[in-house]
Amino acid sequence: MVKYVFVTGGVLSSVGKGIVTSSIGKMLQARGYKVTVIKIDPYVNVDAGTMNPYMHGEVYVTDDGGETDLDLGWYERFLDLNLKRENNITTGMVYKDVIEKERRGDFLGRCVQIVPHVTDEIKRRIRSIAKKSNVDALLTEVGGTVGDIEGLPFLEAIRQMRLEVGYGNTLYVHVALVPILDVTKEMKTKPLQHSVNELRRIGIQPDIIVARCNKMITKEALRKIALFGTIPKEAVFCSYTVESIYQVPLILDKQGMGDFICRRLGFQQRKPNYREWEAFVNALLNPEHEVKIALVGKYAGLVDSYVSMNEALRHAGAACRTKVSIQYIEAERFEQNPKEVESLKNFDGIFVPYGFGPRGTEGKLMAIRFARENDIPFLGICYGFQLSVIEFARHVCNLKEANSTEINPDTPYPVIDLMPEQRGIEYKGATMRLGVHKIIVKPGTIAYTLYKNGEIYERHRHRFEVNLDYLEKLEKNGLVFSGKSADGRRMEILELPNHFFFFASQFHGEFKSRPGRPDPEYYGFIKACLDKKLGKLKPEFP
Ligand code: GLN
Repeated sequence: MVKYVFVTGGVLSSVGKGIVTSSIGKMLQARGYKVTVIKIDPYVNVDAGTMNPYMHGEVYVTDDGGETDLDLGWYERFLDLNLKRENNITTGMVYKDVIEKERRGDFLGRCVQIVPHVTDEIKRRIRSIAKKSNVDALLTEVGGTVGDIEGLPFLEAIRQMRLEVGYGNTLYVHVALVPILDVTKEMKTKPLQHSVNELRRIGIQPDIIVARCNKMITKEALRKIALFGTIPKEAVFCSYTVESIYQVPLILDKQGMGDFICRRLGFQQRKPNYREWEAFVNALLNPEHEVKIALVGKYAGLVDSYVSMNEALRHAGAACRTKVSIQYIEAERFEQNPKEVESLKNFDGIFVPYGFGPRGTEGKLMAIRFARENDIPFLGICYGFQLSVIEFARHVCNLKEANSTEINPDTPYPVIDLMPEQRGIEYKGATMRLGVHKIIVKPGTIAYTLYKNGEIYERHRHRFEVNLDYLEKLEKNGLVFSGKSADGRRMEILELPNHFFFFASQFHGEFKSRPGRPDPEYYGFIKACLDKKLGKLKPEFP
């Protein structure tokens, strides 16, 4: 029998519910139990793919090409899972299914309602994942906060789940903020109490409350939370602010949360094993070096837009015992004031991330040119890869107005162009080239040194690609495409052999980076930044 853990949130969103959910999974895994995770997003979008990163943070891409909520990234990183599109359930998805069934006549004669038809569809999805995944526990995080109108059908569905699978097989965990007032330095539990009341009004009594607070909560705050939450003090835990997010499972387990959950779900009590996790956390927290990275992007104002990239850079840093300090720079700044590009010489590495549309692209091109001409280690991802090709075409191949047709449809040299199979596609939702595709890596290249493999599988999310009409010209001038699709027609990795480290990929290595197992291209970049800083003549890759 699969055990169901449901995580809800109160007071406000972005209090780290995703991290608490991931941490619960980690505590169970550390005791030898198998878990998987679902994220529920109550918005009406069918998936996150059509949302601007400023609205929603990064779009996380799964192996099977799902464009999902960024919390799936946290689950994958913490729990080393490869989740599927179906692990992210949205209102849009659920209603789409119910309406399709209605049109087909599946409910013929009946009035189709939120309860039971929509709630049944939610439960069906949760159950089907539980059945397929062959796990001991299925964790489900409900996005948003208790009391949001759009979250109600989901909360109703998880309320019903307890009736159906039993008290001993379900666990409700409520995560809520406990603010500390600036003036009096007092911990305020009242908002948390209200959110618990709201949850109970819906019919859910939490079994565990996790207080999210800047500091470890006081005995008095804990007593109040237990009393007004109607739970024993042993069921109240505190996720206080720590230096690294990866410490959260450790601090919660120390408070007894792992043992409490096991007892409550009828799992055997086992001693947790955090050996590898702790080794990673120690490497992360005790660096011997530091590198400064300039991330030149168009969503620089919201760190969550680049969360998987940030984490991949940190995983790579931990592997080199190096602290990675990232400065987010709006690319448009360079367009407004070209002299500012010079400030990039103060960085050990330049990173150009993914992106869409024309805004900021000229600024990014300036940054790429600066990296290439000044021998500064460079990594480009997806749009960063495409822009590197454009920069090379313009300034090395002398194709002056080379561009992508995404940026300028009338460019005389469309070195980046829409993929043939994209022509005629009108719908924007889930129509890019998505998910894992095979890549053939050329022996004798930097890519081969890093991946140590002639065949790799990486995740994608793009509509445009290198135009083969320009391949010969680019290669003749010294650009090496060291990774290509299996049929050789799609350029996947580029590098410049005469540069200290100039590397870019059409795919997104960050989605497969894990603590203790950094992604090869991010590792290569950080190691190169460090080796350059240490005065080595070329990067030393193991
Ligand atoms: N806008 C580019 C494309 O669609 C790059 C996409 C990306 O960076 N993810 O091909």
